[in-house]
Amino acid sequence: MNQDYIKICGILETGTDLVSTHIRWLVRQAIVDYCPTEAINMIAYNRDIPTNSKNEPVWGETHAPSRSISINLEHHFHSGVYIIQKEKSIYTSLRCVIIRELLDTAIHEAHHLKTAYEENNFSNSDLDEEGAQTAGFKHSWMAAKTWDVDIHTFGPIIDNLLEEFMVGLKADTAETPMMWKDLQVYMWENKLAFYNPDRDQECKMFEAFQSMADDENPWLDQPKTYVEETDISETTHTHDEDPITEANPILPAAAQLTNPEPVMVPQQQPAEPVVTQTAQQLPPATEAIAGTLPAQVQNITTPPERLYNGLSATEIQKCAETVIRHLFWHIRTKCEFNTEGTYNNPNAVLDPVNISSIPHAEQLFTHMDTKTELGNYAPRQPCQGVLKGLVDTKNMPYYRFYLNIGGKLYIRSLVPHYPVGKTTQWAEEARNGVMRLSFQERIPKIDNTTGKVMTDENGKELGENKIRADIKLASDGDLGNEEFKLWTK
Ligand SMILES: [Zn+2]
Repeated sequence: MNQDYIKICGILETGTDLVSTHIRWLVRQAIVDYCPTEAINMIAYNRDIPTNSKNEPVWGETHAPSRSISINLEHHFHSGVYIIQKEKSIYTSLRCVIIRELLDTAIHEAHHLKTAYEENNFSNSDLDEEGAQTAGFKHSWMAAKTWDVDIHTFGPIIDNLLEEFMVGLKADTAETPMMWKDLQVYMWENKLAFYNPDRDQECKMFEAFQSMADDENPWLDQPKTYVEETDISETTHTHDEDPITEANPILPAAAQLTNPEPVMVPQQQPAEPVVTQTAQQLPPATEAIAGTLPAQVQNITTPPERLYNGLSATEIQKCAETVIRHLFWHIRTKCEFNTEGTYNNPNAVLDPVNISSIPHAEQLFTHMDTKTELGNYAPRQPCQGVLKGLVDTKNMPYYRFYLNIGGKLYIRSLVPHYPVGKTTQWAEEARNGVMRLSFQERIPKIDNTTGKVMTDENGKELGENKIRADIKLASDGDLGNEEFKLWTK
């Protein structure tokens, strides 16, 4: 088990004080998504301005023998200023241009290392410039489909240049108004990425990237949210609160709630290197972790803080529990639990329940199965801050939603216990006025030879539902006194 962690490639970053943590995160994500982590050892952010053989400043450099990439921050600012003055780019904000340029450079340089790795030639000669340029351009706009590019702080180097530039621009355009300057000032002040007054069109970062990416496939999912990394370092340094210990049940519990693939994110340790890891790079053996997380994790002597989708296990558990409580209250009151185990108004489960005020809920609960207003079954609808459910054939309201963990969707449901049929204790309790919902995970039945989900003769996927938590209110209990219980087996 320990060896699986050793295999995970570490990437050293230098000049980290020169860039904001959000930029670092984005650049890293773009690089490790494009290039195998084995091909890259270091990302260096530069204060000085490297030049090429013709003495021209360059955006970035690859040093193949050391598997390193360097990124010239200042040049990105200067080229951004140049770009926004071009006729076709005047509606795009300087911030937006700089983010795209940084991504372009990161992927361009990563392409060089990727080819070196594939060809097993790290000699730094015959770099494929054309391929790198195509890759950088193609993937840079697309990056926002996966990662949060809503960045307004770049770190001291670029921020200082930007501040200075904008002060000059404001003074300038006050004196002699000029279209491109006015536009930049307006977008700067309003944190916009794109603004075209003629078409009365303004976009924030995500929408601007989306429209310029020219992607045939719709951008339905929210990109992965960036979580402020300084918060992470605070939790990792507090040993008492370390979730990965035998005494603390939080991690196994959360793992069972969500069954996530572990995603390691960089920690701001006093000493580098920074270890970065995304779900895609996990060695196959870690797949098994999800099932047997507690025991295996305890074996690691110096465990890194494990985060799922940028959230700690505690945050996920707290979030899921709060959402479940909200849904419980909704079903209880709106669907009118009748204290005989059924519901007088089950269709109220189709009314939206707002979860946007619950921390991390929008990020975690991204999709749901529900019905359209016309009553048609609508699977995997984006939640956009609200949850809506379904009514089953026995007129019971229930929810089926998808938790987004590291960009992958995990199906879960929240179902009330049916009061008749099986003579279980829960059914009897339901008949006697105990309202209970159970939070269930779908475990598909996998064919061992093909590795695929088995189906019955009607094509229905086989599997079983496993209860991960339940919430109940006694027949004489007041709303708000629900008992929430995690199932740890
Ligand atoms: Zn190049």
